[in-house]
Amino acid sequence: MHPAVSTIRTTCPYCGVGCGVLASPDGTGGLNIMGDPAHPANRGRLCVKGSALGETLDRQGRLLAPRIHGREASWDDALDLVAARFAETIAEHGPDSVAFYVSGQLLTEDYYAANKLMKGFIGSANIDTNSRLCMASSVAGHRRAFGTDTVPGLYEDLEQADLVVLTGSNLAWCHPVLFQRLVAAKEARPEMRVVVIDPRRTATCDLADLHLAIAPGADAVLFNLLLAAIAERGAVNQYFISNVNGFDATIHAAREADPAATGLSAEDLERFLDLWTGTEKVVTVYSQGINQSESGSDKVNAILNCHLATGRIGRPGMGPFSVTGQPNAMGGREVGGLANMLACHLDIENATHRSAVQDFWAAPRMAERPGLKAVDMFRAVEDGRIKALWIMCTNPAVSMPEADRVARAIAGCDFVVVSDMVAETDTTRLAHVLLPATGWAEKDGTVTNSERRISRQRRSMAPAGQARDDWRIIADVATRMGWGEHFAWTNPAQIYAEHAALSGVAGRLGSDFDISSHAGITRDAYDRLEPFLWPQSPRKSGGRFFGDGRFHHPDGKARMIPVTPRAPQSVSAEHPYRLNTGRVRDHWHTMTRTGISARLSRHLAEPYLEIHPRDAEALGLSVASLARVSSPEGTAILRVLVTDRVAPGHPFAPIHWTGQTAPSGRVDVLVPGVTDPVSGQPASKSAPVAIAPF
Ligand code: SF4
Repeated sequence: MHPAVSTIRTTCPYCGVGCGVLASPDGTGGLNIMGDPAHPANRGRLCVKGSALGETLDRQGRLLAPRIHGREASWDDALDLVAARFAETIAEHGPDSVAFYVSGQLLTEDYYAANKLMKGFIGSANIDTNSRLCMASSVAGHRRAFGTDTVPGLYEDLEQADLVVLTGSNLAWCHPVLFQRLVAAKEARPEMRVVVIDPRRTATCDLADLHLAIAPGADAVLFNLLLAAIAERGAVNQYFISNVNGFDATIHAAREADPAATGLSAEDLERFLDLWTGTEKVVTVYSQGINQSESGSDKVNAILNCHLATGRIGRPGMGPFSVTGQPNAMGGREVGGLANMLACHLDIENATHRSAVQDFWAAPRMAERPGLKAVDMFRAVEDGRIKALWIMCTNPAVSMPEADRVARAIAGCDFVVVSDMVAETDTTRLAHVLLPATGWAEKDGTVTNSERRISRQRRSMAPAGQARDDWRIIADVATRMGWGEHFAWTNPAQIYAEHAALSGVAGRLGSDFDISSHAGITRDAYDRLEPFLWPQSPRKSGGRFFGDGRFHHPDGKARMIPVTPRAPQSVSAEHPYRLNTGRVRDHWHTMTRTGISARLSRHLAEPYLEIHPRDAEALGLSVASLARVSSPEGTAILRVLVTDRVAPGHPFAPIHWTGQTAPSGRVDVLVPGVTDPVSGQPASKSAPVAIAPF
């Protein structure tokens, strides 16, 4: 089928694969959806979520007009109130008394505007994002190893590798089109080997030559064992490690690893070590199973250590590869959307970097230190240090760890603004002011996928009701706070051009993020922008980084980081089961969009608990009965699914379901607010729980 003349080329909003989408009017006010054959990420493929985008555009349930204390209000009244309350709070209590909690669902232009307002004009770095829950440990690991948060490789490396190791990643369900590319590559080259490291037997294991059902949290032990084997078996790349510091200390730490801690058989472990050390073209893909841990950064570095020691990085078919969960987690990293980053991958703790950004923005009051990361931010809301909070495009009353506590904190905050496209969520119910934002088909801007490819998301439908783009809402508030000339954009192309110009400044300070050739982009050229990889600089061959052994630490070398594995939080007599959490194939986040599609809900219709038959029997839980799952943080009621896909003692529950009254299927109420000390990322993969029949 050929695309219609009126077809819009845009991008799927659901995951970091960043698939190109063709959207064309269906004649009844909706859209027909196809995969874009010309988009390099998906080459025409879509997964079930992407292909159902046309079924999720119903305007029922949309927030169509601003509301103040639940009553419909004019935009002027709502914006005046938001600007006045933020200005009063800052004047009375200082810039750190306010905060923004934003989202990897925002477009880069929205993200840039929010970050500029908070870090350059309000003068605080109290802006953090739900991407903190997704990949902050990967950012921290990259920065420790490379001196920069730069993803070294490309999707095609997965296809070119002779060995693909997937660890902490259910790629088949969470990044389906990238998984389909891997399946096709293995069909074309059956000699390719795939290893899946996961305590659960997931759908991804169907492709595996070897499934390592590792003990929960033992990933760093396994990669330390691998590093020790690399050293012992002569697989170290001596030329490459002349560009790496920390080799001896890291090997020394790795040799302490105890194979028994992995829970793997000696045969399986040996096979893995043989495959990895004996294969030059290795890609290690990792995702939330690595990142969402109280030692997530160390786990990331344990993986990076192996690739640095062997020089298997930044060359075709080789490298560590972090796949991001959200459609624009990477764009958020590029604009400095995390509380501990500055725009264009600059460092907020570097005075030269801060000064350069301040000069570029002509900013009156630049943040001088990192702000509060997500869990700490909501603790500060709880104890009153944060007195005005603006939540954009996310639903933390469901998705944050200790979600009940977070909901109570938001409910107790002096002033809460929520920008969202949906009228009724667990979070919008807690807002004093609601601002209607445009949704996927109505938005216009750019996103960056997991391989650093920037794509346009183009408007294919008129905004619903009075909905406005997030960047415009932010600029409207900034203008009312007295900074209008710095936020005087009239379209997203101008924001993109400004960000591109800032990347030129950042490039002169050593940043890899370089889109500076777009600094003067016109609206027309922006509208025609084809998907492209950054950097555009010819100095990087093939779009990869670090294959030349040059890194961003001051001495130009990489760092291997000695890793001492830490076990996850202990279970107890009261909470003897370790709950693992994750996604299902057909739903997204808190289901505000995918929940609209009956087709998507048919796959798995309700919140459930995967539990091993032995545990189910011991607890008196029968198939399809209900279980009460409790942790010190909260309680959820889940349908029992008895399966040996999970190990005894290690049940699993998906994160998507919401609920207005406790107990419900909200699984993040069970997750403790334990975080990685380096990245601040919550340990969402491990919640000690008790289970009983309901
Ligand atoms: Fe959308 Fe991700 Fe599916 Fe691609 S793989 S269609 S980006 S959800």
